[in-house]
Amino acid sequence: MTHKEKADQLLHQQYHCSQAVFGAFADDFDMDLKTVFKISTCFGAGMRQGGICGCITASLLVLGMAIGFYDAQDREQEVYGNKKTEEFIRRFTEQMGGDTNCRDILGKDISIPADMAAVRQEGLILKRCPRAVNSCIEILEDMLSDILKDMTESNIDPQDIPENDEMQSILKSIGKLKRFRRNVNNLLLSSEKEIGFIQYDIRKFKIVNDLYGEKFGDEILDFVKKQTKESCTEGQFYINLRSDVFMVVMEFEYEGELVAFIQRLDAKIASYKNVKLQMSYGVYTVEDRRMELRQMEDRAAMARKAAKNNIVSNIIFYKEQFKESLYNRKFIEENMQTAITERQFMMYLQPKYSIAKNEIIGAEALVRWRHPQRGMIYPDQFIPVIEENGFIQKVDYYIWEEACRFIHKCKEAGIAFCPVSVNVSRVHLRDNECIHVLSDMLKRNGIPKGMLELEITETADDQQISFKALQLKEEGFTLLMDDFGSGYSSLNILLETPFDVIKLDKKFMENMMVSGKGRLILEQVVSMANKLDLGLLAEGVETKEQVELLQSIGCDQVQGYYYAKPMPQEEFFELLKQQYGK
Ligand code: C2E
Ligand code: CA
Ligand code: CA
Repeated sequence: MTHKEKADQLLHQQYHCSQAVFGAFADDFDMDLKTVFKISTCFGAGMRQGGICGCITASLLVLGMAIGFYDAQDREQEVYGNKKTEEFIRRFTEQMGGDTNCRDILGKDISIPADMAAVRQEGLILKRCPRAVNSCIEILEDMLSDILKDMTESNIDPQDIPENDEMQSILKSIGKLKRFRRNVNNLLLSSEKEIGFIQYDIRKFKIVNDLYGEKFGDEILDFVKKQTKESCTEGQFYINLRSDVFMVVMEFEYEGELVAFIQRLDAKIASYKNVKLQMSYGVYTVEDRRMELRQMEDRAAMARKAAKNNIVSNIIFYKEQFKESLYNRKFIEENMQTAITERQFMMYLQPKYSIAKNEIIGAEALVRWRHPQRGMIYPDQFIPVIEENGFIQKVDYYIWEEACRFIHKCKEAGIAFCPVSVNVSRVHLRDNECIHVLSDMLKRNGIPKGMLELEITETADDQQISFKALQLKEEGFTLLMDDFGSGYSSLNILLETPFDVIKLDKKFMENMMVSGKGRLILEQVVSMANKLDLGLLAEGVETKEQVELLQSIGCDQVQGYYYAKPMPQEEFFELLKQQYGK
């Protein structure tokens, strides 16, 4: 985000002009927004009297952070700072045509309550203040780059400034950042190859810091910086953006080169003094070189953040859909609670069939979100988000309860046998709550345990989850291993966790069907399941050929579009009634 975009965003969030301007530069000084807002509020006093515009005080704060003097003996620095302050005020006054007071810019005096009410009512801040905000940002950006030039051209070599000198080290980082951006801009202008941005940070660095102390944390950062520096050759530039966030910009011809670079670097920084370091890498490959540099950096940052949450890979490439997915995330977070209270979540049921009997033998409960404006939202679009923020717990309880009610309804209608399986997110398996919730639900709805089955996906070996699954099993629940063959060491997990049924993943089956060797593996899995006395069910069965193949190798239970899609529970109930002649 550019400074102007950031300031505009803050104004829209109802921050004052002084907060918007200082806030826009917060990142440059590695300051958190909260502190920046508090400081700029104190200095916005003139503005609150309708007097001097808050943009001016905020801009002087920005300049102060970059060059303010702090050593009473350092007259040179003081004179330089004063000169720059005057320069700013002169340029701002010129650009604003003399309007430097809040009451001139807004056309109202906010110290008068009636005027303030009018400002609010007519939304004058968003209409009139951006002129001042944008002017001062333009001037500041220009001045900061001049200041850098002054600095690099003067005899103060930024490399010589001692590290413990806080203000100077800020100048030093501005200097480094500017130099880095200049190099990258030159690369973007001159290189005939593709350009990639790789941004990375240390996973859970805060915990490392807390655990081993900040001094050790700093050592780690130095170590990462050194390894990064050594990894970069000509045409590759690096920067330590802030604390544990680093970025490398490099040329490449094939994306594989970027991955290879990352893998080499990752191997070098895998651990420091026996402390394991796990990194998250976000990659942005430039498509349009006219885009602002900051926007490219932002995209790499977005990819890095996505890599943090990804358990499969620590390298994520920025894709256009990220933007949309951020929007999507916000929508979900803002609407999920209402969705529960207004019963927008619905249970769909997908029948499971026996091939030999050509009969329904059960169903899987799958959640759907019917939003009054957006229509049907499918689980793949919202489950990952609510798994991350923990809300999945509420949604699952809701679906489990629906499933229990459905089973109860079948019993009442004289349909004695129709087990329903529900999905159990890994989030539940971290504590004991779900065991109590499930047992309580069964009791309340008068349901025998065998009728409610639990589907658990194991994506990696996880002792804790295996242990919880064992407890559920001891409570008498039937456990289905979901998505077998789609992820990690599935066979190991079979040793650790006492599953009753394996659900063969759709992809696994598809892959297995294409060659004779694959078919052999599939046969072995079926025979293994038989020997271990495990039930087997194939998911995502779409074609007649698949049904025939499964039957020929001895897998009888299936679920998939070939037989039926997931459907509203009422529809499934009708199907069941037909089958049982009720
Ligand atoms: P899953 O548990 O593997 O569920 C099977 C998914 O495959 C369902 O997608 C189903 O509609 C789809 N499917 C079934 N037959 C076929 C077929 O023949 N071909 C194809 N292409 N797809 C088929 P759905 O309903 O979109 O659910 C996606 C995933 O979301 C589920 O995968 C499950 O992991 C999760 N999920 C759904 N409902 C819940 C829930 O209530 N709680 C939790 N925790 N997760 C849920
Ligand atoms: Ca499932
Ligand atoms: Ca599945």
